[in-house]
Amino acid sequence: MAGKHEQRAHALLSASGASRWLNCTPSARMEEEFHESQNSVFAQEGTLAHELAEMALKAHLGLISLDEGKIQANTIKSNELFSEEMPSEVEKYTDYVIEQFNQAKLKTPDAVLLLEQKIDLRDYIPDGFGTNDAVIIADGLMYVIDLKYGKGVRVEAEDNSQLKLYGLGALDAFDMLYNIDRVKLVIVQPRLDHVSEWEISAKDLKEWGEKVVKVKAKEAFEGKGLCVAGDWCRWCKAKARCGTIAAKVMKLTDHEFKSPNLLKDESLIKVYDQIPLIEDWIKSVHDYMYAEALAGKEWKGYKLVEGRSVRKWKDESLVITELETDFGKEKLLNSKLKGIGDIEKLLGKVAFAERLKYLVLKPAGTPSLVPISDKRPALNSALNDFADI
Ligand code: SF4
Repeated sequence: MAGKHEQRAHALLSASGASRWLNCTPSARMEEEFHESQNSVFAQEGTLAHELAEMALKAHLGLISLDEGKIQANTIKSNELFSEEMPSEVEKYTDYVIEQFNQAKLKTPDAVLLLEQKIDLRDYIPDGFGTNDAVIIADGLMYVIDLKYGKGVRVEAEDNSQLKLYGLGALDAFDMLYNIDRVKLVIVQPRLDHVSEWEISAKDLKEWGEKVVKVKAKEAFEGKGLCVAGDWCRWCKAKARCGTIAAKVMKLTDHEFKSPNLLKDESLIKVYDQIPLIEDWIKSVHDYMYAEALAGKEWKGYKLVEGRSVRKWKDESLVITELETDFGKEKLLNSKLKGIGDIEKLLGKVAFAERLKYLVLKPAGTPSLVPISDKRPALNSALNDFADI
């Protein structure tokens, strides 16, 4: 049976997809044409991390007994997606929540911490709902804290539609009771050592709900409005077949390559700007057509063929038994030191730092060409220094 965290079912207009359907309202209905993608390993791992975080916070608050906590912890540990690093990573989130709650209690003894609160967004979004990981309310300020266990993409709280919806739902639920005038939205991404906070007044958040969410959600629910391509296309299930994003990519080709002469710097930079979009789109078309072909669809002019394969032992132990007397085990087996990450997991971060840090070499990373807005310092001046030598 699915756990509580797994049951965070996806509504047509889900909070996690809000950035997409608020910007491109027809996308919600367009996505319905496509299969629900399998719950990825990463999503399942995130679910497990949320279960661990909830258990740890409840144990800290005395909401579950020690025995109950142990039973839950053992169930989580027996999951194949559990890793040695998970408790210490999740702890960064639980530490943050506990720290903020302690601070709130210093301001007012009436401070409350609420975990895994279901929120009802139906006043704004048809069938809209969600779950808040942690909410702290004290002295007119409400923290809405979201744990994101993934480490792929760094997510900022500022003007984040998903977090704003979570805040809106929490406001609706608790404003009457606690008189909230400010909402602090927080994303904790422990595996990126990233905490992002952003504050908005309760008034502005409600106004956004009334003037933007209600209007766009109605359009989206009815499948109306304009298709608009942007960053939000990244997770859109309709992307491979979407004419708007295809047109956007093709338009670039139309405009930039009309001239048979060499491209000017400005044109090349414009192309470079679009590489993530183009690569992402090409991959989505490839993955979609390939998955459909595997499912039996025939694409005109294409066929599925068997790829190159590599020979494998059927049973390694039988190979060793067969050859051991001829050559001895050493000649048959390779042994190689495990990678740094695996050894760090084996030892734990603290012991690893104490015993092996001096044996770890960290060469300079390969330079990347990134937009000027990137927070890392530019390498150019250092490279020029080398050139002068
Ligand atoms: S790919 Fe982008 S433009 Fe196309 S439907 Fe999805 S969100 Fe809209």
